[in-house]
Amino acid sequence: MAAAGEAVQEDPLPDEGSVEETSQRLSIARRVGELLGHMLGQVALEPASEARARRLQESLLNSDDWDELRDGLNGVAELVIAAVTRSQREFEAFLRRLDERLESLRQCFSEQAAAQAGRRNASEALDREIRDELQTFGEQVKSSADFDQLKASVGQHLESISGAVERFRTQESERERNLSQQLQLMHEKLAAVEAHSELVGEELAAERQKALRDVLTQLPNREAWQERLAFEYQRWQRYRHPLTVGVLDIDLFKRVNDSYGHKAGDRVLQLVAKALSERLRTTDFIARFGGEEFVILLPETPPEVAKSVLDGMREHIASLPFHFRGEPVSVTFSAGLAEFVSGDDEDEVFDRADKALYLAKDSGRDRVIISGSEPADG
Ligand code: GH3
Ligand code: MG
Ligand code: MG
Repeated sequence: MAAAGEAVQEDPLPDEGSVEETSQRLSIARRVGELLGHMLGQVALEPASEARARRLQESLLNSDDWDELRDGLNGVAELVIAAVTRSQREFEAFLRRLDERLESLRQCFSEQAAAQAGRRNASEALDREIRDELQTFGEQVKSSADFDQLKASVGQHLESISGAVERFRTQESERERNLSQQLQLMHEKLAAVEAHSELVGEELAAERQKALRDVLTQLPNREAWQERLAFEYQRWQRYRHPLTVGVLDIDLFKRVNDSYGHKAGDRVLQLVAKALSERLRTTDFIARFGGEEFVILLPETPPEVAKSVLDGMREHIASLPFHFRGEPVSVTFSAGLAEFVSGDDEDEVFDRADKALYLAKDSGRDRVIISGSEPADG
């Protein structure tokens, strides 16, 4: 309830809270109704005010509607104050204080209604304390005839209630402080973990990139090849678009090593790798399979088209002006091609391409042969 001229703040949570909390709220309102009824008995009111006061008291005692109860409290307070302000300023101050305390109780109930299960015990203890205080207070009001003694008693009880509320609040803010410290700590830990895992992720990705690349030629290595082959194989299984595998092997490479040294051989491997990858489409894939062997994957490409692509590469590499100790040396490669057909798995296609490569070697080298086709004359 409010002192004259002041309005009680709207209850921020009028409909929330459990049934139990609502009934506690109501029973406290009833007590306040009784208490104010007794107080009305102590002061002389004009008949009209008296009638209004009784009506309000009636609603405080019987209504279940919190809004109506709150209005009732306001109304009664205003009446009491109207009756006493002329002669009893002191009483007005007292009522104002009473109003403030009741308001803080009301807020406390609202907070309680919004509170979570973990706080229930503390809230219940507070309720109990307040109810007990109001009960004793009500009994004293009944038995007391002396207005000053009554005032003193009201003051005392309100002090205890206010103390209980204060203790509850202190505990609450302590709980909240702990909780927010824990949250902050968790937040920091999480951020640290995130930063660390990002770093580890980057390192892993870099390591993985390294692990999938051939050091000498910087082409993808055999590991990377297996991964890509499995991926394209799955796509082929789903869409059945042509997919061709090529196996390339540099012709008579041993001679390069033997004649000009291993370093010269390495340089040839690097240049061939560069020339091959430069002439591939971005959807194609090339890897160094090992030694002087390379493998190529050509999606959306039937073997005849793949053959013309590889023949172009072969001619290009054959035309590269390699010079060792002042001598021009030409480098060629042979290749076998095979396309995926129904029932194939990755290994079967690879084996067919490899066999075609051997056919190309056997039939004179420096050529590309499609698996299943007759070898051309060398
Ligand atoms: P073919 O036409 O039948 O393939 O003849 P080839 O000499 O190329 O085949 P062979 O398998 O007899 O020899 C392959 C050679 O490739 C042997 C090896 O010394 C060389 N080689 C393999 N890996 C490397 C490498 O990383 N660097 C160098 N310089 N040579 C390598
Ligand atoms: Mg070889
Ligand atoms: Mg070779």
